[in-house]
Amino acid sequence: MEAYILKHNDFRTRISSRSGGAFTAISDLILDKGGVIYGVTLIDNIYARHIRVETVEGRNSMRGSKYIQSSIGDCYKKALEDLKNEKWVLFSGTPCQIAGLKTFLGKEYEKLVTVDIACYGVPSPKIWRDYISYLEKLCKKKVVKANFRNKYKFGWVAAKETITFDDSSKKDFGIFTNLFYSNKILRPSCYQCPFKTLDRASDFTIGDAWGIDKANPEFNDDNGVSIVLVNTEKALALFISIQCATTKVVNISDYMQPPFQYAHKSPDNRENFWKYYRDHSFGQVVEKYKNEVRMKKIKQTLKRKLHL
Ligand SMILES: Cc1cc2nc3c(=O)[nH]c(=O)nc-3n(C[C@H](O)[C@H](O)[C@H](O)COP(=O)(O)OP(=O)(O)OC[C@H]3O[C@@H](n4cnc5c(N)ncnc54)[C@H](O)[C@@H]3O)c2cc1C
Ligand code: SF4
Repeated sequence: MEAYILKHNDFRTRISSRSGGAFTAISDLILDKGGVIYGVTLIDNIYARHIRVETVEGRNSMRGSKYIQSSIGDCYKKALEDLKNEKWVLFSGTPCQIAGLKTFLGKEYEKLVTVDIACYGVPSPKIWRDYISYLEKLCKKKVVKANFRNKYKFGWVAAKETITFDDSSKKDFGIFTNLFYSNKILRPSCYQCPFKTLDRASDFTIGDAWGIDKANPEFNDDNGVSIVLVNTEKALALFISIQCATTKVVNISDYMQPPFQYAHKSPDNRENFWKYYRDHSFGQVVEKYKNEVRMKKIKQTLKRKLHL
């Protein structure tokens, strides 16, 4: 395995991608070969689903992280058909989705390129649906678009969801992001995830290049930089032909983050959270847990200050 940091040379590509645009740079190579791309888009601009595309426009709809579990639908079956038809196939998703694909296929295919993400874990899609309904009631408008991380407005590092309503107004919220990072709403499998390792089953692993400020600050302009793990010979042959991005080989030990090391522990109060969630409205859940998040932030700030 070799590790690289990467930033796409096209600013607009980078700003609409979650990190440095590694997914666009790699998937362009497959589109140039007449291949097909599988990845996650937002159906109705809100709900995460895997789709199959053959065009640049279709691929562009997959850009950006959707912090919910995507529905795979019949994409494994379609990918098998494409491979049987000798097409180049790039399949992207969480490490467990790639493992699922490989189990489904049952054998290696020369023209299959797999890309997994550095994966924090995925929240339940139910809570996302409930959240959208809650916002619609709260704001008395229909939600028509969700952006899980608005890089234009908040930069690469900040995390807030930007919601667009049917009267074209936009509002920024941190409710879902806070719930996500509280670790209470991840799928049960994410607390026992066997894929939090550098020993990856996919050809490429892509993530945010956290660690860059210490290791390679000269590479960082706050518009996003990807870490790319090039895990196989096939991946390396493709990677060295990338011309649309600036890359640099790095030492992975400078870029270690939880998805490469360990699964998050299930929080002690997770069961209580879900019990409360089932018995109360979404608004009541928000009220109860926003204080908890606030207290956690105050504690973190105090800890940092006392340490100084
Ligand atoms: C649920 C989730 C958790 C993440 N956790 C981390 C983390 O802990 N550390 C970290 O460094 N980065 C994390 N990421 C971000 C991920 O690493 C970026 O998607 C990656 O850096 C690609 O960014 P990019 O700039 O190359 O391109 P982009 O064009 O933004 O990449 C989009 C890629 O992400 C895939 N994708 C988007 N949403 C989903 C989804 N819900 N399920 C499966 N695949 C999806 C698309 O299919 C596409 O391949 C997470 C992303 C998601 C969706
Ligand atoms: S944390 Fe593990 S189990 Fe959860 S979505 Fe990511 S790869 Fe899958």
